[in-house]
Amino acid sequence: MFFQKPLSLFMHKPRKRFGQHFLHDQNIIHRMIDTLSPTSSDVIIEIGPGKGALTFSLLMQHPNLIAIEIDRDLVERLMRMTKSYSNFTLIQSDVLNFDFSTLPPNQKIIGNLPYNISTPLLFHLLEYKNSIRELIFMLQKEVVERMCAEVNTPDYGRLSIMLQRDFEIESLFDVPNTAFDPPPQVESAVVRLMPKSATKLLDYTLFSDIVREAFQYRRKTLRHALGRFFSEADLEKNGISSKSRPAELTLHDFEKLANYLVTEQRHV
Ligand code: SAM
Repeated sequence: MFFQKPLSLFMHKPRKRFGQHFLHDQNIIHRMIDTLSPTSSDVIIEIGPGKGALTFSLLMQHPNLIAIEIDRDLVERLMRMTKSYSNFTLIQSDVLNFDFSTLPPNQKIIGNLPYNISTPLLFHLLEYKNSIRELIFMLQKEVVERMCAEVNTPDYGRLSIMLQRDFEIESLFDVPNTAFDPPPQVESAVVRLMPKSATKLLDYTLFSDIVREAFQYRRKTLRHALGRFFSEADLEKNGISSKSRPAELTLHDFEKLANYLVTEQRHV
């Protein structure tokens, strides 16, 4: 009876479809946790606890820890290993469908994220920005560069604009591939996002639609890329050349354009 499932539990074969690269470098684990500096009064949410590399170090600080993991085998394994911790809740769920508003507010969220879903996950978390206090993530370095990118650079795009509107973003440190098992084939970095107060938008969905549309056609001039929303005259009225490209527009430009359509009462 006792030997029914030990192999799947203790010799877990990393699953590519879940982006499993387990952290084993204690120095990196401690640096991530020190950055978050959890206390016993914090609500900490860990995305993808896996085998518990970050989880156990977090539990040592006695926060109220909630972890969300998709892999049933890893959930079962972690359940067994954390039985004695009353401050730990493990939820088996796909984080992309998870409703963060069901958890207490003022959330500090941490994770060595599955790289294959990192961009949709960042957009999913944006929906809960009002209940977020801090985000600390291990991500593909290329994604971190896109998150932090400045206007008119090759990495600047929809992800940069949508995140920079609501968060101060800081790339903290790079992480070598040797910190993971198995090592990922891409470079990694740890990033911190802190909420900031954003300027007023009359219609956030419209703003988001305009940014999405612009970067679907990032090589086109604005006249073509945003033709569905704006005439050349509209753009010029807002001090924006219709010959410029989407990546030349600042966050403020996009906000101004979205508000302009609302005040003109011409939502598309
Ligand atoms: N935190 C562990 C560590 O650092 O060793 C594991 C990190 S591993 C890069 C990503 C983790 O996220 C895995 O445990 C994986 O099963 C989990 N995961 C992948 N996709 C997920 C999803 N859609 N929802 C929740 N967890 C997911």
